[in-house]
Amino acid sequence: MKRGFVFGAFVIVDALSAVVGAALQGTGGGGAQGSVPPAPSASAIHAEKIRDNLYILRGGGKIYRVGDVDLPQAGTAVAFITSRGVVLVDTKLPGWGQPIIDKLKDLTDKPVTTIINTHSHMDHVGGNVEFPATVEVVSQENAATLMQEMRPVSGGPVQPNPFKEHGGRGLPTRTFKDRLTLGTGDERIDLYYFGRAHTSGDAWVVFPSLRVLHSGDAFAGKSVPPLDVNNGASGVEYPETIARAVAALKDIDTVITGHYQTTLTMADLKTYGEFTREFVQAVQAAKRAGRTVDDFVAAWKLPERFVKEGYVDFSKLRSIRPDVEVIWNETKD
Ligand SMILES: [Zn+2]
Repeated sequence: MKRGFVFGAFVIVDALSAVVGAALQGTGGGGAQGSVPPAPSASAIHAEKIRDNLYILRGGGKIYRVGDVDLPQAGTAVAFITSRGVVLVDTKLPGWGQPIIDKLKDLTDKPVTTIINTHSHMDHVGGNVEFPATVEVVSQENAATLMQEMRPVSGGPVQPNPFKEHGGRGLPTRTFKDRLTLGTGDERIDLYYFGRAHTSGDAWVVFPSLRVLHSGDAFAGKSVPPLDVNNGASGVEYPETIARAVAALKDIDTVITGHYQTTLTMADLKTYGEFTREFVQAVQAAKRAGRTVDDFVAAWKLPERFVKEGYVDFSKLRSIRPDVEVIWNETKD
């Protein structure tokens, strides 16, 4: 299958499809076809109020439907309105920066002062270049390096580099390795890096006073994690990274994920950690038992426990084979 953009790891093809942004891009021919994407405009963005000063900005790309689950191509953006200006987490696909700016005018008269990028995928950073050069752009240091290159998502085609096309505008201007705090008091934001997962630069964004977490695509939704190994993903380390996040992040009531259609909870994140651990262990057990990747992919079914939790098998959109291969190749003994 030809793969395109990755929503992290679901790639279905189209110019910019994404099941978790990166994962669903792909399918030039026999792949999944999402809804017709809307033309970029503020009216195509829906602002969902999560707290008095925190909004999820939904929309901005195709919608892939699997069962009763909608999988949006564009990453979930969040606007945190502070006394100094708007802190925006992620900027969706190229062309959606200005529509985000226009939409924010419905919510506040303050300008965007800071962009935080959860990771380097196009469906999360594509709009960066449309913001004024004075806006501070913050990311984990590995994500910043990956954004300079914008190398293809694993299995996907060469993609344009919007930052190069705009003379470096929109690239991170401030980075962190493991931890960074922005702002103070009720406007504090804590950024964390817990290790490799969906890429090698996945940031976790916490709004402590609001008890809200944006997990980016490290927790994109209830499905097999998309592993963009070309941008540093690790299947074997994934469950450890989630476990570190679960252990470290306290006092959070609301989890905003990279692509899921509603907000979730820390209990859901914990379950996702268990799901990824079981999935990795199942692949490793198959390899150690002398089976093949093809055997595993053909035989694998979502465990019933996770079906009950609302997990979805996206294999109609994109095979799990690439993710299985990543884990397989990381398993040396
Ligand atoms: Zn992603």
